[in-house]
Amino acid sequence: MLSKRIINELLDLGCIILRNELLSKHCSFRIGGPVDFFIKIPNEAALSFLLQYVNRKKIYILGSGSNVLFPDNGYNGIVATLVGEFKYCFVNKYNITCGGGTQLSDIVNLTTIHNLTGLEFAIGIPGTIGGATYCNAGLQTKWISSVINGIEFFNENSQKAYLDRKDISFKYRTSSLNTCIITQVRLKLNKKSKSNYNINKYLYHRIQTQPMSLPNAGSIFKNPIGLNAGKLIEDAQLKGVCIGKAKISEKHGNFILNTGGACANEVLYLIKLIQAKVKQKFNITLEPEIKIIK
Ligand SMILES: Cc1cc2nc3c(=O)[nH]c(=O)nc-3n(C[C@H](O)[C@H](O)[C@H](O)COP(=O)(O)OP(=O)(O)OC[C@H]3O[C@@H](n4cnc5c(N)ncnc54)[C@H](O)[C@@H]3O)c2cc1C
Repeated sequence: MLSKRIINELLDLGCIILRNELLSKHCSFRIGGPVDFFIKIPNEAALSFLLQYVNRKKIYILGSGSNVLFPDNGYNGIVATLVGEFKYCFVNKYNITCGGGTQLSDIVNLTTIHNLTGLEFAIGIPGTIGGATYCNAGLQTKWISSVINGIEFFNENSQKAYLDRKDISFKYRTSSLNTCIITQVRLKLNKKSKSNYNINKYLYHRIQTQPMSLPNAGSIFKNPIGLNAGKLIEDAQLKGVCIGKAKISEKHGNFILNTGGACANEVLYLIKLIQAKVKQKFNITLEPEIKIIK
């Protein structure tokens, strides 16, 4: 898939290439077997070169890996992540421009320093702005899409392109950016008039309601319209249920925890169990929010 010549070119362009790298090292679940090539891409020249020589379908773009479940037998292809020159953010009045690989937490911090409002809900959401944009990350009724002004990306034909907010469709935890590799996101915020009370409120709520100490991938299921997936799982008496080393959190029913050495199949088994019980008890189909990679 990657000839010696392409590998050497990528190395010259500053990439770090890891062979048979365990994906468990690159996701918050700490689960996943080896990938043929794990590539850290530091700049647009390297990304453009990779896309020129490798079929896009063979490349999985990873942010911080906080919303994915990789299979135990790994991934046949390339997992690539944006590093180096893709990590930046700068402020111009109410606008923030950031590289696709920038951590969301760094951007939230910057909004606090510059007294900007609109992104408080994102405090504590792990991951990159690229991943958050792709997934339309959010909390309750707040979404990242509400502060996005436009994006820069590589399209399915491996060409660099731009989209204004009005040309992107965002829905609950999803976007129309399926085949895009998001390299830059432009945000538009507002001037804050009060103290940072809101940010503390969001952080406090997260600490109170979510398990913090064991590896997980955040909410496993999307909330059905008007309902709360965690509450449905709790009402189905599934909190605390374990399969092997995977466990449904006792603190939040919509979190599955890796209690130490869990494998993807155990998590998948729990996902199916939850879906079956919730369907049986409430006639509701829960749809996974996490990306289950095959
Ligand atoms: C403890 C915890 C709490 C969480 N809380 C929340 C929450 O409150 N709200 C919420 O919405 N989510 C939450 N999440 C889930 C997750 O953090 C978010 O979805 C986050 O935005 C994912 O970003 P990431 O960089 O980790 O993406 P990844 O998990 O690496 O990838 C997610 C998807 O985005 C794609 N992607 C990543 N980067 C790019 C890019 N540059 N271009 C194109 N596609 C890309 C990937 O291909 C994949 O399909 C939580 C997760 C954890 C572990």
